[in-house]
Amino acid sequence: MTPEETRDFEAKIRAYVGREVGAPTRGKDDVNPAMIRHWTEVTGDESPVYCDQAFAAKSSKGGIIAPPTMLQIWSMEGYAMCQRPEMDLQRELHKIFDAHGFVGVLGTNTSTDFYRDLRPGDQVTAHTVIDNISERKTTARGVGYFIETVTKFTDQHGADVGRQVFRVLKFMPNAETAEAKASTAGAADKPAPPTRIQAPRGHDNAWWWEAIDQGKLMIQRCKGCGTLRHPPRPMCGDCNSTEWDAIESSLEGEVYSFTELHYPKFPGYPYPLLCAVVQLREGTRLIANLAGCEPEQVFIGMKVRGKVERVDDKTVLPNFYPA
Ligand SMILES: [Zn+2]
Repeated sequence: MTPEETRDFEAKIRAYVGREVGAPTRGKDDVNPAMIRHWTEVTGDESPVYCDQAFAAKSSKGGIIAPPTMLQIWSMEGYAMCQRPEMDLQRELHKIFDAHGFVGVLGTNTSTDFYRDLRPGDQVTAHTVIDNISERKTTARGVGYFIETVTKFTDQHGADVGRQVFRVLKFMPNAETAEAKASTAGAADKPAPPTRIQAPRGHDNAWWWEAIDQGKLMIQRCKGCGTLRHPPRPMCGDCNSTEWDAIESSLEGEVYSFTELHYPKFPGYPYPLLCAVVQLREGTRLIANLAGCEPEQVFIGMKVRGKVERVDDKTVLPNFYPA
């Protein structure tokens, strides 16, 4: 960043200081015994004043109270997976940092004051202000700025029940700095691309994978009764014979069932990642990836044709394509 760019950037971010990040957020649930119990179970806090009504009534608290450490819990917005988080000024501010290369974020410290015990039935509302942005700092993680937010918690009467200061470092990771980029630019020793998780090969199935490596999809066949079976195993389920040989599959079949894998996304796999149970013409089924089609094009009963192919440096697999 040139000195002018830095000045512009700092003017932009400083305009956020002193502003509320959004409208006060009222907790989705009032303080309640079920959430208190879950919290104490998760944290292992066995104080009976949180969950034992009879004990709490006789204690100096005069009844059940919520653990003070739950203060922030009562106004949290919930799991990000279940809903789209609302854009607020804090997220907007972080986006400005991101756009200028300060993509790293690290929670550094938090401090909390508790003004009174919360009890079942209390309603907590959080009011958060961007309180301070530090001067530019050089840290072990990289160059960045500390952003401090202060949240005031109020109850159903508008009275303060607590306060929390939270500080994060928004930083430009060291590897992203110009010097680091210059030193790696053009370097030939790029790390190898990630590969798929390799299938374990054991006494009973190594032969099957070795055939795959040779480009052949094999199906085990019982020598006693001729029944085909997959995955490979030592004994026939029909006649208990342990004698077997194998036939080569035609690689023709149809989709018996399928799913699209979304999460977690493993490195080394192509996405969208379609996995199907393929019913082979020979009668056995196997699990394989579907390729050459979009998720919405796949249907049960779709005719497919397999191709044994290399998917990365370490793995050969049968992939199935629309026939
Ligand atoms: Zn058999």
